[in-house]
Amino acid sequence: MDTIKTCSGEKISSVSDWVKNQIKQEEIDKYLENGHDFIDDAKIKQTLQDNQKVSKERIRGILEKAHEINLMDDADVAALVNVKDPDLRQEVFQAAEEIKKQVYDNRIVTFAPLYLSSKCVNGCRYCGFREDNGMQVRRVLSQAEVEAETHVLASKIGHKRLVIVFGEHPDSAVDYIADTMKTVYSVHDKVRNGVGEIRRVNVNAAPMSISDMKKLYNSGIGTFQVFQETYDHEIYRQMHPANTLKGNYGWRLYSLHRAMEAGIDDVAIGTLFGLADWRFDVMGMVAHARDLEKRFGLGPHTISVPRLEPAIGTDFSFIKNWVNDEDFRYIVAVLRVAIPYAGLIVTNREKPEMIKSLIDIITQRDADSRLGIGAYSEAFKDGKNGQDEQLIDRAQFELGDTRSLDAIIRELAETGHIVSFCTAGYRCGRTGKKIMGLLKSGQEGCFCKLNAVLTFQEWLEDFASEETKRIGMEIINKEINEIKNRVPKDFSQPIFDSFIKSYDNICKGHRDLYF
Ligand code: SAM
Ligand code: SF4
Repeated sequence: MDTIKTCSGEKISSVSDWVKNQIKQEEIDKYLENGHDFIDDAKIKQTLQDNQKVSKERIRGILEKAHEINLMDDADVAALVNVKDPDLRQEVFQAAEEIKKQVYDNRIVTFAPLYLSSKCVNGCRYCGFREDNGMQVRRVLSQAEVEAETHVLASKIGHKRLVIVFGEHPDSAVDYIADTMKTVYSVHDKVRNGVGEIRRVNVNAAPMSISDMKKLYNSGIGTFQVFQETYDHEIYRQMHPANTLKGNYGWRLYSLHRAMEAGIDDVAIGTLFGLADWRFDVMGMVAHARDLEKRFGLGPHTISVPRLEPAIGTDFSFIKNWVNDEDFRYIVAVLRVAIPYAGLIVTNREKPEMIKSLIDIITQRDADSRLGIGAYSEAFKDGKNGQDEQLIDRAQFELGDTRSLDAIIRELAETGHIVSFCTAGYRCGRTGKKIMGLLKSGQEGCFCKLNAVLTFQEWLEDFASEETKRIGMEIINKEINEIKNRVPKDFSQPIFDSFIKSYDNICKGHRDLYF
């Protein structure tokens, strides 16, 4: 039996004992229907088969209906994923852009991943953190190191939103995750006229029990992300060894159901594209959203579309379903119209040109990211931003876009996008059903529009280079004019007056003002 020490030096019985205690079978069984989970592989394959040849008129009708901002029927999703004609795909792409505009306007939210631990008890064949990967340097950050990383992220780069990421291991189990969140939220540094602080911490970690997730809820979690990787039962089995925690498909599939029961109503689904047939997995994501809606009256807050990337010490010769760039773009467009209310995240795994081509469909991207454990402090240690220092032997995989947040924001502003640093939603209780209702009716967009201006102005004051501030101010002025022109239809005069007062106060040095 392998005895282990936690980071604090305290001895706990063994990793294998810890592993044995993680899965609560009753917290899977309670959601099954007649002993089955909600992914019926044969039915999905049949629906894909039945909707192979569809007319242009049918596709256009589906796209028309998507503007009602409801989850799409399975048969309609199957029809869309089967489209091969480039012109018809272009129509789907255009509808996706219209729906993004309808629900989220020209806003983009930026965030950074913060990797805290590379120890992992699992054996996912595609991941650099898998237990048997001898090339990976293993580390779990101490709370002092977490604080150092947060100082860089919040005060040198200027992020307000993080996703903290963990391998699955007793050294980085729920209490460590909760402590980490407290440490991150505790950082408040003086920067220029304002303050460097993280205002929303999302978590990407392994599935947990309901009682563990209540701890995360009580520590102020933003969104809880668990990616299913693939919904195809057989491919899932091939990718995740049976004797590991992650080998349990049902424990993972229902992790977000348990999160909802624990009170976390912003949950995020995702597929790792490249493992299985992408058409099947898009259908799986829609089925996942449907089951969440059915049980909790609420679908996913965000959707992630990671695509397989090279990882140190990892041979990918077993991968049969690589997704090419054209199909990847199309996947993102189909998901936009199929689950139209959800935020859509594309990360720096992708190259700048790819993200740019999807920017009018997606809602979130990361920026200035480092994946190596401890890599932010390392990169900024001489007082400069070391763009190339990724500490790849401590990273899970490799990045496609390593530009600075300032450069990314400048590019976005040049193309007419406003970066929102708003984190008001969960701090004002606008989460879960409340935000979904507002999003579908278009009302949340009004709050978001005001908060985007306020938080973007704050960022420009505190972090932007001169050039970025100049270009950013053009967007700010355009947005304020637009808001003014929408009084009184979308904004009452008192709301507008109060917004202008808040805006002036931000310019004078007040911080963290929102609606
Ligand atoms: N260990 C937890 C888990 O597996 O859910 C959470 C963190 S894991 C580090 C985050 C995600 O990284 C995984 O869910 C997977 O989708 C993605 N990932 C793993 N290996 C990857 C690779 N080679 N390329 C791109 N994404 C990868
Ligand atoms: Fe561990 Fe997650 Fe990587 Fe799998 S994907 S090896 S669970 S860190």
